[in-house]
Amino acid sequence: MSAELEEFADLVRKSRSIAIFTGAGISTESGIPDFRSPGGLWEKNRPIDFSEFLQSEEARRESWRRKFAMESVLSKAEPNKGHMAISSLYEQGKICAVITQNIDGLHQASGVSDADVIEVHGNTTYAKCLDCATRMELERVKEIFAVDETLPSCEKCGGLIKTATISFGQAMPVEEMRRAAEAALSCDLFVAIGSSLVVYPAAEIPLTAKQAGAPLVILNREPTPLDGYADLVLHREIGETLASVTKL
Ligand code: NAD
Ligand code: ZN
Repeated sequence: MSAELEEFADLVRKSRSIAIFTGAGISTESGIPDFRSPGGLWEKNRPIDFSEFLQSEEARRESWRRKFAMESVLSKAEPNKGHMAISSLYEQGKICAVITQNIDGLHQASGVSDADVIEVHGNTTYAKCLDCATRMELERVKEIFAVDETLPSCEKCGGLIKTATISFGQAMPVEEMRRAAEAALSCDLFVAIGSSLVVYPAAEIPLTAKQAGAPLVILNREPTPLDGYADLVLHREIGETLASVTKL
């Protein structure tokens, strides 16, 4: 066992209230591409930002096409070794919150209670009205869209319907950001996993924890702009690293 893994295991062993923060990198081993790796979603599809979604019918159509194309991948994806290592620490009562930028629901599928997963970029399993927040199920959107790519509109107020995810340029969910900050301020160890840590304001959350006195660990294949603030940086693969550390 290398010294850095020993150090990571030691921090995990000593901590009682760990905040976990995950990005798309934890789910690549489940077959869901991330944004910024070679071959990732970024290379194929430039993200549609929120103002484009609001302004352009074609952007809204394209975002529903992508959503339904991704669905076959998402519905087959299962939690991997990384998710399972986190859920095993959770079962031992060592984790206070799992803050995630992901929209794939795999932390919940691995056994972390919905109440302890904080989804700062929303959730892709349903849609809602941008004006009155009335929920619309994806099945209903699909029925409407399948005919001739007709765009769904709110059955209550006529507003635009969008998946319940947060796009670039869209306001962050207030309650989730408050809970994430609370976890960052109160945890005794903060572990950022599989995030490029360039998407703000989510990337502020690890810094909040560090400033409040928690040791910060970053586990990511590539360097991140926050590596210099971390107490321990592991440029390693996520699944095997978390599995080996949680077994120690
Ligand atoms: P990102 O794509 O910017 O970064 C992922 C990071 O993980 C990269 O730095 C990459 O090097 C690293 N990585 C990938 N696989 C790894 C592995 N097996 N081991 C170690 N490191 C690995 O992702 P982000 O920072 O989460 O931000 C992008 C945005 O895209 C987020 O808002 C997120 O919501 C969204 N997104 C979500 C999903 C999902 O829900 N699974 C998938 C793609 C994008
Ligand atoms: Zn509405």
